[in-house]
Amino acid sequence: MDSKCKYENSTKEDLLKELKEKDNEIWRLKQELIEAKNGRKLIMPTAVKRDENPSEFIFPSTSSRLSKEEIARYSRQLILPEIGPEGQKRLSKSSVLVVGCGGLGCPSAIYLAAAGVGCIGLVDYDVVEVSNLHRQVLHTEARIGVSKAVSLSTAIQDLNGHVRVVTHIEALTTATALDIMKEYDIVLDCTDNVATRYLLNDACVFLEKPLVSGSALRFEGQLTVYHYDGGPCYRCLYPKPPLPETVTNCSDGGVLGAVPGLIGCLQAVEAVKVICQVGSPFSERMMIYDGLSGRFHVVKLRKRSKNCNVCGEAPSITKLINYEQFCGAAATDKEGTIGLLSPDQRMNVEEYKQMLDSKVPHVLIDVRTSVETEICSLPNFVNIPIKDIMKDSSISTLKTLQDQNGPMQFICICRRGNDSQIAVQKLEGVLGEGAQIKDIKGGLHAWAQKIDQDFPVY
Ligand SMILES: [Zn+2]
Repeated sequence: MDSKCKYENSTKEDLLKELKEKDNEIWRLKQELIEAKNGRKLIMPTAVKRDENPSEFIFPSTSSRLSKEEIARYSRQLILPEIGPEGQKRLSKSSVLVVGCGGLGCPSAIYLAAAGVGCIGLVDYDVVEVSNLHRQVLHTEARIGVSKAVSLSTAIQDLNGHVRVVTHIEALTTATALDIMKEYDIVLDCTDNVATRYLLNDACVFLEKPLVSGSALRFEGQLTVYHYDGGPCYRCLYPKPPLPETVTNCSDGGVLGAVPGLIGCLQAVEAVKVICQVGSPFSERMMIYDGLSGRFHVVKLRKRSKNCNVCGEAPSITKLINYEQFCGAAATDKEGTIGLLSPDQRMNVEEYKQMLDSKVPHVLIDVRTSVETEICSLPNFVNIPIKDIMKDSSISTLKTLQDQNGPMQFICICRRGNDSQIAVQKLEGVLGEGAQIKDIKGGLHAWAQKIDQDFPVY
């Protein structure tokens, strides 16, 4: 058999281009199908078109009346006096960019699609993994390995074929953000990292667009609308980024799936309010949800700052900057995102395997939480969670070990090789001279990948 893969010699750019073309073709065919079924042209946002020139969206000239199909589909929200036919037409003419197709992006995008938002843009560079499914509920087992943007787009099209969905299978960066974002009326921040928050904020200020911001971690969630109706932007409130080691994301801290589900739905509500210009969107206010106590708080935020570096009276930032450098953290939650140690303070999993095999005496310090060590662990470890290491508690255990056995090797390990580096830095100062301390690059994920394929990954 000589069946060469058609795409064998294609570059990533070729493939992305082709994917976009196919995406457009699917949209066109679906449109024809619906038109054939209805026996006439749709009045819905079918003419919203993204052609070769990505800067051109062409919206249909608005029809004065809603179609019979639109009235039937949206009847339950049409009878709301705050929405009515006028609000529905606004929705169908609007475009919303959802940045991040995960736990927040899934619910917000699907409710906006259900409500009849004309065009929804989906940004995500990542692919669906099994560990996403407990909260990113529109992806499916069958779509593991598929682009998240494409997967979410499929779910949207299944629900409402009238919505125009544009997938951006790429990370939003300083180079691409403005070009992508300028096409949309509203931006939803459904991401999970500080660098992207600043990037989205600054771009929204430059482009004069409201930013509906959501976040969720563990049992808690937050919601606010930045840069809207004279309210503050993200930088007005947080001029300086937090220290990278103090930031926890869902991947490290965990999250109950329904919490981002709730916050994402609220982001959709805020976007609809902004589009239809009804109610009071969360500008200058933040909603904080505590799932454990079941309480919602609304706190008043500071007003827009005249001294803000980006939206103030004399802004020092007038174009997008390098946000990873600014925040000292990567714009992703992937492995090895921080580099605190020099090469001689680190070892790789192969070297550690050799140490184990040749029974080199050492103490393995697992710096994860105790609940994580219950999920999986390497043999013979001492568990000192990174939190305790930072507070100096439990370190006396190590000192006792050192005093009893003389100078010895300490090896720190964590899930992905970030916290273990912080632990090494901290412990070096505490254990003093003579103590050899290293971390294991890539942590248990690297162990699972390179040494023991049966080792669980979470
Ligand atoms: Zn500001």
